[in-house]
Amino acid sequence: MSTVVLDNVSKIYPGGHLAIDRMSLSADKGEFLVLLGPSGCGKSTLLRMIAGLEEVTSGDLWLGGALANDLAPRDRDVAMVFQNGALYPHRTVRGNISFPLEVAKIAPETVRERVTQLSKALRIGETLERRPGTLSGGQRQRVAMGRAIVRQPSLFLMDEPLSNLDAGMRTELRMEISSLVRSLGVTTVYVTHDQVEALTLADRIAIINRGVLQDVGTPTQVYNDPATAFTAAFLSSQQLNLLAATVRAPQNRFILLDFGPHQITIPWSDPRAYAISQYVGHQIIVGLRPDCLAPVPETFDGPVFLGRVRALEYHGHEWLAHVESGIPTVTVPEPPAPDRHAGDPAASASGGRVMTALRRLFPGIGPAPDPEPEPEPEQAGGTHRRADLIVRVGSRPVWRAGERVRVGVDAGRLMLFAPDGSRIDPPQR
Ligand code: ADP
Repeated sequence: MSTVVLDNVSKIYPGGHLAIDRMSLSADKGEFLVLLGPSGCGKSTLLRMIAGLEEVTSGDLWLGGALANDLAPRDRDVAMVFQNGALYPHRTVRGNISFPLEVAKIAPETVRERVTQLSKALRIGETLERRPGTLSGGQRQRVAMGRAIVRQPSLFLMDEPLSNLDAGMRTELRMEISSLVRSLGVTTVYVTHDQVEALTLADRIAIINRGVLQDVGTPTQVYNDPATAFTAAFLSSQQLNLLAATVRAPQNRFILLDFGPHQITIPWSDPRAYAISQYVGHQIIVGLRPDCLAPVPETFDGPVFLGRVRALEYHGHEWLAHVESGIPTVTVPEPPAPDRHAGDPAASASGGRVMTALRRLFPGIGPAPDPEPEPEPEQAGGTHRRADLIVRVGSRPVWRAGERVRVGVDAGRLMLFAPDGSRIDPPQR
């Protein structure tokens, strides 16, 4: 089983298009790594570079501990599965699966036995003598998987293998791929734009936008503790609320996130308070999933946004409300490039704020502070609009359209991003 290491790898296509921008990423032995991102972000380019089908423009690619930039595809011991299966139409299912073994001149009895066994595991045993044209989409992808697996490569590369299938078949084959690949223990790099596929299949997910690595971690890490606003938004099944808030520190008593018509206080005892305090006087982006917001009664003593229900949406298992609250929202900012470390307040704000924050923790250090002026806030990244809050109402529509409502905020699950979309309080990895 191979390891894959990309060290500062870039890909520039002829014509000058930068498809991959200084990416460093690795897959351990036996790991199932998913490359996730929107169409055109560079996932397939990355996979094709690992396969040897695209040249690496700069940086190093290591496979199984050996530098592989110039290694021919056939010497990489990788097997690839594509979106469309790409089977030989004039060969039977058996002929398709056995092809790599025939090329490798394996004894016919061994080939027969291995193909028969594998076809049973893939539940296509009864189709062995049929041609691909007579198979369903799901069966064709099983054959493609069989052909990839049969010669026991050290690395599987899968490029959206389920995206041409209907929803039911996708779910079924997804589970089978997961158990098959895990039982074989082969290192796998799997490309998809589907966040559910990524979350359910991966040991770790690498999220990519415009050729830039946004985040990498286990499914729970990247979902619950995303490194960038892009990651948080891309992994949200419901639209993520991205709200613009100005950070204030009234008389240094606590941190105030000022959303305009509404505020949330963060006490100094909160582990995130110091990181947020670097942005006093500046605008940041607060991410809130719809399930961090909920209808609450008058007696609720936590943070609350007030608003008016504009519409209710039925999603089968739950209701979502669109609530007018007057809070400005922002769109996802452009991805931070590898050398632009956002979240580094020294890069984006006056060094004086760092000193102010230090003094708050260690009173008496440095020269006496001036009374704290609160500069006019800068605009957080992305486009500002006054869109609705999306609120998870629950399994019953307890609100009505037009009603004035109280929206409770789960302040422990606020996601805090700098204006460029990087995390303010560092994610745990
Ligand atoms: P994804 O797999 O995430 O959809 P791709 O890796 O296919 O993205 O493409 C990344 C970017 O590189 C896209 O903008 C695409 O148009 C561009 N691209 C892909 N292949 C080529 C090529 N052969 N020549 C020039 N540009 C390409």
